[in-house]
Amino acid sequence: MKRITVLGSTGSIGTNALKVINEKKDEFKVIGISGYSNLLLLIEQVENFNPKYICIGKESDAKVLQEKFSDKIVYFGEDGLKKMGQIEEADIVLTAVSGAVGIETTVEAIKLGKRIALANKETMVAAGEYINKLLIEYPEAEIIPVDSEHSALFQSMQGSKRKEISKLIVTASGGTFRGKKLEELKNVTVEDALKHPNWSMGRKITVDSSTLVNKGLEVIEAHMLFGIDYDDIEVLVHPQSVIHSMVEFKDSAIIAQLGAPDMKLPIQYAFTYPNRESNIVLDKLNLKLLKELTFDQVDNEVFKGVELAFKAGKIGKTMPCVFNSANEVAVELFLNKKIKFLEIYEIIEKAMENHMVKDINNLEIIKNVDSETRKWVYENYGRN
Ligand code: NDP
Ligand code: MG
Repeated sequence: MKRITVLGSTGSIGTNALKVINEKKDEFKVIGISGYSNLLLLIEQVENFNPKYICIGKESDAKVLQEKFSDKIVYFGEDGLKKMGQIEEADIVLTAVSGAVGIETTVEAIKLGKRIALANKETMVAAGEYINKLLIEYPEAEIIPVDSEHSALFQSMQGSKRKEISKLIVTASGGTFRGKKLEELKNVTVEDALKHPNWSMGRKITVDSSTLVNKGLEVIEAHMLFGIDYDDIEVLVHPQSVIHSMVEFKDSAIIAQLGAPDMKLPIQYAFTYPNRESNIVLDKLNLKLLKELTFDQVDNEVFKGVELAFKAGKIGKTMPCVFNSANEVAVELFLNKKIKFLEIYEIIEKAMENHMVKDINNLEIIKNVDSETRKWVYENYGRN
């Protein structure tokens, strides 16, 4: 029996993880769950999965939970989320909260030598250099990627040596606005940006897909997870989202992972790795229904998310953190209809120009850079 902590259980990845677990109750037990604002769903999940530890955003909601479930250990807020990473009984910690708040709890789980099923991409983007040092210090800990592209890369690498890899090919659906010109994107609305053609995901990541900042974050994440040079990472637009990414080897062989556009497979793989198991919730890909698989270059003139990420990644140190934090606030401002779609790029670019790069010696540096960047964006773009 593997005991799993599901951080962000009320979100898109979290609810999918619970569906995977629900069909394998003889193998997986939920030991802890965390939500932020969705108290009602969290209550329902506690009733269904009976975890020992629960965490929520607000103290008042934590009181409601504690009264309702007097035998449980209830935490709240950022400090509570950190404690969720410190649960001794857990075998696996799924980090599926959104945003930079996922970093610290992941760090705690690494220090306890846990397996981290990592969905939260901000962890490796903002703090990758620091996390990689920690993984050397705590060799029992391991990160198994959940993000579909990184899971695909990880799966495609099985059985080969790192030095045999010549290139990572990260595929991108191209997002809602694929094929659009700059002029057409000037006045797109929040509702337009939230219509993703292939994947059903949380709001923030759906906007990130439409700007291709999501792909940029994934390039940095791939570099940090697999130690491959930025010059050996390529992004290809693949609108069908059937090939989730590919690895090219020194002998020119390319190995790809294909599957339905559904996060449940990479989530389960991160739980069962190195084994593969059946589960009725996993969709099968019907190859006979596929008419074509196409590949194209990213239109970098319009969708600047990828190039900006390469720039931030190559500068390294605290710059990827700035790229991520500036984008998080920009997307929040866009979702709240305070800025226009294309201003998201402007904000990231200006925040990066404004930043003095620092070495990452500890987590405090990342926290400071994160909060300074957020403050800078709010001050300069958070008009009402
Ligand atoms: P959602 O927005 O659907 O869910 C986010 C989860 O985090 C919810 O449980 C939410 O709680 C919780 N949360 C939000 N803010 C905070 C906070 N400040 N403190 C603690 N918890 C918080 O996001 P997704 O599930 O789509 O994504 C989660 C992570 O996984 C992201 O980092 C994303 O980039 C990554 N990812 C997602 C993919 C997807 O297909 N969705 C694919 C690959 C990666 P509540 O809802 O109760 O407020
Ligand atoms: Mg992805």
